[in-house]
Amino acid sequence: MADSKLLTRGRIFDIQRFSTHDGPGIRTIVFLKGCALRCRWCCNPESQSYNIEQMKQNEKIKTIGKDVTVAEVLEEVLRDAPYYRRSGGGITLSGGESLLQPDFAISLLKACHDHGINTAIETTGFAEQSVIERFIPHIDLFLMDIKHINSAKHAEFTGQPNERILENAALIARQAKRLIVRVPVIPGFNDTETEISDIAAFAKSLNGVNEIHLLPYHRMGRDKYEGLNRPYLMGDVPPPTSEHMEKLINVARSHGLTAKIGG
Ligand code: SF4
Repeated sequence: MADSKLLTRGRIFDIQRFSTHDGPGIRTIVFLKGCALRCRWCCNPESQSYNIEQMKQNEKIKTIGKDVTVAEVLEEVLRDAPYYRRSGGGITLSGGESLLQPDFAISLLKACHDHGINTAIETTGFAEQSVIERFIPHIDLFLMDIKHINSAKHAEFTGQPNERILENAALIARQAKRLIVRVPVIPGFNDTETEISDIAAFAKSLNGVNEIHLLPYHRMGRDKYEGLNRPYLMGDVPPPTSEHMEKLINVARSHGLTAKIGG
């Protein structure tokens, strides 16, 4: 890689080392700032705006977001290279939505590949096709959310329709090395057996896709809304019970998919 790519700047709000979620093995998760969606249940509301913000947390004011170079993030990621090698892990880009910062994200992914590090991305898939196509060669695993098959309901709960997302899922399935479909299971939005069945049927229709992860709604991000001085739109909605999640897993499996709870 030319040195200039290592100087590409991007805006992140966190780096978490030693994660065993969001891809195989031990991983470093880099959280990018900015997202085009506004999911009502979002547990990282501080990720949504691209702006650098202040959030009150544990009675302290924390600045959320900082501008960094690819080289700075790469240095942090490389610290755990021996763990990735032993565990089959690597880097996962999360957010927010990395597709909104393509130059930075792609340069970082490419730099990781240049060092033999496995790459994954958690994504909504909400971007122009041309942007998705730029990412595909640099990603070993796409973890892509399909939140609802009905576009009007998708727009009501996330602020964006789903047509582009479903089209991009098909594109990624055709061209990427590997795609796992993920579904945040949200009470009152997509938690009926019919809704999960519709999503699973769509996932199964995608070229080469055989795995789906159901991620039960949780309230762990609730305090952050208060810290950002924003209303928490999910109110006191309880998370789905484990019995209900089991039912939904069986629905997903009935479509011939490998299904699991969590990701
Ligand atoms: S897509 Fe993810 S980061 Fe963006 S608003 Fe929804 S839950 Fe939050």
